[in-house]
Amino acid sequence: MPVTPEQQAEIDELRQATQPTLRAVSPGMEKHLYKAVDVLDHGFVRVIDYMGDDEAICQAARVSYGRGTKSVQNDEGLIRYLMRHWHSTPFEMCEIKLHVKLPVFVARQWIRHRTANVNEYSARYSILDREFYIPRAEDLAAQSVVNNQGRGEALTGEEAERVLRYLKDDAGRAYDHYEEMISDEGQQGLARELARMNLPANIYTQWYWKVDLHNLFHFLRLRADKHAQYEIRVYADAICEMVKDWVPAAYGAFEDYRLGGATLSGKALECIRKMVAGEKVTQETSGMSKGEWREFMGVVGG
Ligand SMILES: Cc1cc2nc3c(=O)[nH]c(=O)nc-3n(C[C@H](O)[C@H](O)[C@H](O)COP(=O)(O)OP(=O)(O)OC[C@H]3O[C@@H](n4cnc5c(N)ncnc54)[C@H](O)[C@@H]3O)c2cc1C
Repeated sequence: MPVTPEQQAEIDELRQATQPTLRAVSPGMEKHLYKAVDVLDHGFVRVIDYMGDDEAICQAARVSYGRGTKSVQNDEGLIRYLMRHWHSTPFEMCEIKLHVKLPVFVARQWIRHRTANVNEYSARYSILDREFYIPRAEDLAAQSVVNNQGRGEALTGEEAERVLRYLKDDAGRAYDHYEEMISDEGQQGLARELARMNLPANIYTQWYWKVDLHNLFHFLRLRADKHAQYEIRVYADAICEMVKDWVPAAYGAFEDYRLGGATLSGKALECIRKMVAGEKVTQETSGMSKGEWREFMGVVGG
């Protein structure tokens, strides 16, 4: 269960206690504050706090005394300019703090993003819940034959059933032993910090994760990308929806220049110039490797 009824009651209570503030408020983000968005079978992501809005980015860029706003159109133009020219520090003036519940193997990928502040649930101090990520049938895929770092078609029939059974049984058995080892009934009971090593990587953990908008965009560009593993991509997608409401102009620029854009090499640009001039260009004449050419064609739609 992503959020228990007791936890939901706490969230509802927080959302009822409003207070006036002089700080910048993003109406789009206020509607998300504290609410958990379900991700995977037991996970969630929710906004605990945030600082700044689109105006704050412009305010920092102009180093202004007041609100820093000229007009919405002007601000949007400035934000697009900043994004286009990699003038990233104004985006660092906005911050977000998230509470995330996620499987440990997803957390291992996530924690590689070093430019955030993290505090994780302590499995030395607390007992982990019996909650494991078990993929849906359609997400139980075979190894990709074209990409060593990816998956292909969904498993079917007896194989799919067997895999699902192993995942459930192994997790259940490991957790039974974990519980048995930490129990102090009729025995000393193994320390939690040791007993946890028996648990599989699909068990859920939780953390608070705080990051500025510039580094969040970097995270989202890598993890909301179709090459990212599905299990982390669904978290990135959920965060994208929040950021879209929080800083619509900044997110719009990010979506256009980063998610929708592409980085082209000098060779690739030269090919485009030739194509525009009506010249025929092939992989052999492009100076690119086969893999590069395939990716280039994917970008230009050839
Ligand atoms: C599709 C995909 C596949 C991947 N596969 C693998 C894999 O097989 N094995 C593996 O180990 N990792 C893998 N990674 C992780 C990847 O190599 C990065 O560690 C991860 O994406 C975090 O990126 P980052 O370092 O840019 O982010 P952050 O840690 O958030 O850093 C942001 C930026 O800050 C700067 N920075 C931060 N810390 C330092 C530092 N100590 N020194 C210098 N500059 C710094 C860099 O410019 C960096 O780009 C994969 C990632 C993706 C998206």
